Amino acid sequence: MNYDREQALETVHARVRKCMLCPLHIGRTHAVPGDGPVNATIMFIGEAPGFHEDQQGIPFVGAAGKLLNELLDKAGIDRNTVYISNVIKCRPPANREPLPEEVAACGPFLDQQIEIINPKVIVTLGRYSMARAFPEEKISVVHGKPRKVGNYTYFPMYHPAAALHQPSLRGLVEADFNLLRELLEGNLVPEEFAPPPEAEQLSLF
Ligand code: URA
Repeated sequence: MNYDREQALETVHARVRKCMLCPLHIGRTHAVPGDGPVNATIMFIGEAPGFHEDQQGIPFVGAAGKLLNELLDKAGIDRNTVYISNVIKCRPPANREPLPEEVAACGPFLDQQIEIINPKVIVTLGRYSMARAFPEEKISVVHGKPRKVGNYTYFPMYHPAAALHQPSLRGLVEADFNLLRELLEGNLVPEEFAPPPEAEQLSLF
């Protein structure tokens, strides 16, 4: 690859910081483009910035971020070596769930980040992040199961905030982080995944 990936990533970050494509820009303190080195082999994709992320312009620096750091530590993964972003880059009012139009407006930024970083593994944190790759799936079924889609290996996980609100999930999330390490070490083989045919295509027959 001949172009400067670091520069390309910084250009995407700069566009996110100035973005006014949806009304969320009105209430933001800072947009939260993403954080981590361009040569990261693992990319984590969360849902949306919360209060602390909006204040600092950095993803996962609040309570969910603290848990994410602990889980990374336990799995022997250095946070400084991974890239972290979100499905949407500005905090929704009162941390409500992202709206489809917000997800759609931010989509191209995330696509560009994935293309530039070209990670070995994309870890989706929570339903909204998982739904970009697997819109038909349930997180309770697919979490912890790596899947190869085209050039990318996806690894769906529960969102760390879910483990904070529902302590019974904590063990599952920790186990998934251990599986992530197995995947990175080559001890876990991702399933080849072909998206199911579109409903309209089926109706042709
Ligand atoms: N939750 C997210 O999904 N993203 C953050 O950046 C922080 C909390």
